[in-house]
Amino acid sequence: MARPGHHGLVIASNRLPVRLTVANGSFEVQRSVGGLSAALGAMRGDATWIGWPGAVVPPALQKRVSRRLAKDNLYPVFLSADEEEDFYGRVCNDTLWPLFHYFSERLRITPEAWARYVEVNERYADVILEHCEPDARVWVHDFHLMLVPEMLRKRAPDLSIGFFLHIPFPSSEIYRLLPAREELLRGVLGADYVSFQVGDYARHFRSSCLRILGVDSEPDWLDLDGRRVGIGVDPIGIDIAGFREVLADPETERHLADLERQYEGRRLILGVERLDYTKGIPQKLHAFERFLEQDPERAQTTSMIQVVVPSRLESPEYRAQRDEIELLIARINGRFARPGVTPVEYMHRDISKPALVALYRRADVMMVTALRDGMNLVAQEFVLCQSEPGLPSRWRGALLLSELAGSAQVLPGALLVNPWNVDGVVDHLVTALELPTRDRRRRLEAMAKRVESLDSRRWAEGFLTRLGRHSRRDRRTRRPPTVDATLEARIRRKFVRARARTIVLDYDGTLREFELHPDLAQPTPEIRKLLRDLAALPATDVHIVSGRRRRNLEQWFGRLPVHLCAEHGYVARAPGGEWRTLVDLDLSWLRPIERLLRRVAADVPGAHVERKSCSVAWHYRQADREYGSWRARELLNDLSQHLAGAPAEILLGRQVVEVRAQGVNKGLYVQGLFPNGKEATHFVLGLGDDRTDHDLLDALPSGSVAGHVGGLLPSTRSDGSRDDVHIVGPGEVRAFLRDLASAMEPAATEPPPA
Ligand code: UDP
Repeated sequence: MARPGHHGLVIASNRLPVRLTVANGSFEVQRSVGGLSAALGAMRGDATWIGWPGAVVPPALQKRVSRRLAKDNLYPVFLSADEEEDFYGRVCNDTLWPLFHYFSERLRITPEAWARYVEVNERYADVILEHCEPDARVWVHDFHLMLVPEMLRKRAPDLSIGFFLHIPFPSSEIYRLLPAREELLRGVLGADYVSFQVGDYARHFRSSCLRILGVDSEPDWLDLDGRRVGIGVDPIGIDIAGFREVLADPETERHLADLERQYEGRRLILGVERLDYTKGIPQKLHAFERFLEQDPERAQTTSMIQVVVPSRLESPEYRAQRDEIELLIARINGRFARPGVTPVEYMHRDISKPALVALYRRADVMMVTALRDGMNLVAQEFVLCQSEPGLPSRWRGALLLSELAGSAQVLPGALLVNPWNVDGVVDHLVTALELPTRDRRRRLEAMAKRVESLDSRRWAEGFLTRLGRHSRRDRRTRRPPTVDATLEARIRRKFVRARARTIVLDYDGTLREFELHPDLAQPTPEIRKLLRDLAALPATDVHIVSGRRRRNLEQWFGRLPVHLCAEHGYVARAPGGEWRTLVDLDLSWLRPIERLLRRVAADVPGAHVERKSCSVAWHYRQADREYGSWRARELLNDLSQHLAGAPAEILLGRQVVEVRAQGVNKGLYVQGLFPNGKEATHFVLGLGDDRTDHDLLDALPSGSVAGHVGGLLPSTRSDGSRDDVHIVGPGEVRAFLRDLASAMEPAATEPPPA
């Protein structure tokens, strides 16, 4: 049952949707109507919101502020002025904001402030957990809180967690500059569903996951540490109902009538931006100046209104940006003004919604020249205001839109410009001003449909639906195996008490970490000792079951008392015995396939081909990761055509595509070990890390322990008759095995006499 203040949906964002002012020991709260609060307004009835209240609240006031906000289901995260400065000022504004917007030259990194970012994220996680049920939905917003999903996941694994990034996710080439690149990715990946404004940002994110974490992904999901994370695209829209109300407001009509009168017979170019270097306001002014230079008479018929909403003026960089804009405007007006004619009218202030909507309605050209923008809502607002019936000036305007804003990907009728190409912008501005009415209307109509479908309420519902889908899928079919302390203790007990023990181990990626080249991944003295110790335990058999060639295994383990099985189960030998093949095969397809793989390897720097007796493999671990995996996918297609009907199958391992004779797999070998299942007193443990090991693990007799290493999840064939454990990586596998060995009589773990 929900306790008071504990709810099914929790929203966490940097700011709460309020404006709090604190003065002389008391405070005032005003609701603020940002896009996000409107979007979530529809579901607010039941939702709890967690965030910074917007002001530093002295400790003596905090209880009262909390009580007041709780009436609206808002729960504050209080931050001191220093915390706010480090967290928001240094990390969010000086590091993440410029980097995610591709302004690497403005990037400033303060290592001490990073610790504060971690601390503040932890504080958000604390407040969230105080206010939600263990299985609630938590929606975490934006770059301020990128560590929160993972923090929540660790402390409350059953939460359904969504993360939405409002700003762009940059190319991995830019993202990798960040010292905390790995922590932030892992932080976000604590969510069940991670979503972005447009497809490009999701693609960049996946590419960073591959290049930085080494985690490959599908377009809409990836697996990390035994969990599946959905990846999606949910472009945010505007609060349509809210704008319709403003359009119907008599105040708007009054403003519009004023504008119509004031600008009668003149063309109006409009710019509306928050003061920020990402918005490209100087680039827009340069283009307008060039437009007037081309024909100074244009100043007689065309005006620009530039609204700049003050923002972050405490920062010298933002003040410098304002000064640059003001100088440019002064220069343009100085050059082209005539009595009664001011080419650029400039408002550096917040303007009222009716005044803004009237401007959108009256503008002939809306000019958005952002150098980078996650979405850009101004463009959508302009489209809506131009196309709604009821007021004069309908279907009047054209939208000139930077191709570097996310909205360029959702507004099909805009005239797209590269804001850095001044002449291109001027040409498009001329086109926009001359566009025949019919064309303007056609373009606006197309865009209006899209804007309607992006409505912020639908956006929020869409996000939450997808979050639900991904969370459920994760819970239903992909519950990750884990080693908890009790399970571990139980396994240890069974191991010690067993009358016989069989340990079946994959090698690469399970017992030994990968290296760039397979030849470098030799067993270390530690591994050799561990294998010897295990094999020396009473009634204990150790089997190494690998995809490698017999020569490799022979060379590395030939003198250890362990069983070897090479080439995915094609050949095997008992300790010190002869190699024997386990099946008869038709290998007529092998040579042509080898030729094909060699041809493709020649095109991909770093890729190489490995020929074995009943299979051939194309390795791309040393190739560029993205190019390699792209060519691997292409190769899979080609292979399935070439192999049609041949008795061979394609395996996709970690950075390797292998074609192998059908009927050979690690499972066959394991089945051969237990033709009649196993005795209850026989302890059997299998360990593997990639998809080829599913055969091995699935073939273990019931009652065994199946260890999934790295991100490997139980296969869909897994029948659940085994104890599934998840082990992070080879280092942990060795520790786990060492722990089992030492749980036996200490004397038994001594190395046998040489
Ligand atoms: N806006 C505002 N006050 C103004 C002018 C505009 O609050 O005086 C709003 C505008 O309606 C829009 C938002 O500011 O909703 C700007 O959103 P956008 O996505 O274009 O840029 P952001 O500032 O979020 O980077």
